[in-house]
Amino acid sequence: MFDDVLGAADRLADAVRECEVPAGDDALLAGVRAAVAARNAADGLLARVTGEIECRGTAKRLGFSARELLRRNGCVPVVTSRAIRLGRAIAHLPALARHLRDGSLSAEFADAVARGVRHVAIRTRSPLGSELAVETEAALIGHALAGRSPVEIDDRARAIALAHEPAVDNGEPATPVAEDTTLNEVSWAQRDDGRLAGAFDLDVVTGERLISCLDTASRPRPLPDGTPDPRSAAQRRADAFVQVVEAASRALGADGLVGSAKTEILLTVPATVDECCGITPAGPAHLQWMGTVTDEAVSLLSCDASVTRIAVDVDAAPVDISPTARLFTGRTRKAIVARDQSCVMCGNPASWTDVHHIVFHSDGGPTTCDNGCLLCRTCHVAVHQHGWDIEMGPDRHPWIRPPAKADPRRELQPAYNRRTLRLDPIAA
Ligand SMILES: [Zn+2]
Ligand SMILES: [Zn+2]
Repeated sequence: MFDDVLGAADRLADAVRECEVPAGDDALLAGVRAAVAARNAADGLLARVTGEIECRGTAKRLGFSARELLRRNGCVPVVTSRAIRLGRAIAHLPALARHLRDGSLSAEFADAVARGVRHVAIRTRSPLGSELAVETEAALIGHALAGRSPVEIDDRARAIALAHEPAVDNGEPATPVAEDTTLNEVSWAQRDDGRLAGAFDLDVVTGERLISCLDTASRPRPLPDGTPDPRSAAQRRADAFVQVVEAASRALGADGLVGSAKTEILLTVPATVDECCGITPAGPAHLQWMGTVTDEAVSLLSCDASVTRIAVDVDAAPVDISPTARLFTGRTRKAIVARDQSCVMCGNPASWTDVHHIVFHSDGGPTTCDNGCLLCRTCHVAVHQHGWDIEMGPDRHPWIRPPAKADPRRELQPAYNRRTLRLDPIAA
């Protein structure tokens, strides 16, 4: 029977590939319906097969995870994650399993229903299979069949959870949901374009702490010439979030010179070694978690004290570990902080900055006071990737040369702390 299905699926795929899209309105409409029905049936099959793969330990026997198995067979990450979630959910949600199987719900809607049932079960501390869970499953499926969007299904689930929030838990007054840290969740997934996207669900106290951490750092900051901050609120929050992550990784790594193992970033660079030229890069570098990065990102990461660069040969055996001499530490860093006081481009506090090699370390720039300047992460990216240049002036202070798209004449500007100083003699 299953072999018949596989054969039919192959024949369907062939027929679909070869068919021409017709011109008539009715035929086009029928085409949409047929495509949706085939897609829903295929998504349902993928979820069921994935559930079995997990249940039977097929992937493990082949030597990898179910996720890896799906990805190796052509599933993009978002489809992989959904198939795994649905494969697990349908084992406990029989009504949902039926709708997924007969193709009346697409994988996106079925996923929203499964997520909603799980949300209600956790929030109300009632297990899957309980009366409330079964009612919720039916209500959310009804919502999906009525054509509501996945976001509306999420909203409905939240409303059900709120209405059934338990007042007591084992005879004790229950912790209000808003304050219950056991419900906290942070999830993320790497998208197809290589970026990381995620979501969080936090209790009020952690939420308050997060917002107060980001609030000060995300206020609009006028440019040195007084024009308003061009960043949107979301961009300002993202910049602030980056600063908080940087500060946290610096603080966690403070006990070691180069950062502790906990927060250290490993950058692996394939390299060839020969006797006359030494070590030369031989392919794109990659990060332990996020994968391949561009040469610009490598030069940026080379300024970062929490990054260890490991060159590896064709057999992935280490041939060189980045010398610690490239890092601005101790007295050199203190001298640069005393000179620059803040990010030389935007004035962000010194505690948020990296020391940047003005002549890039990869171009042979030395790790000396006259070749370093303070840059916050946002400005550091602008220098390594968006055409901003830093030059050391004859006054032994860093100067900034904007890219032509920011200033067609590319005129040198003084460092941030010296822009305000410069006004004093004029005022006097
Ligand atoms: Zn800056
Ligand atoms: Zn740099």
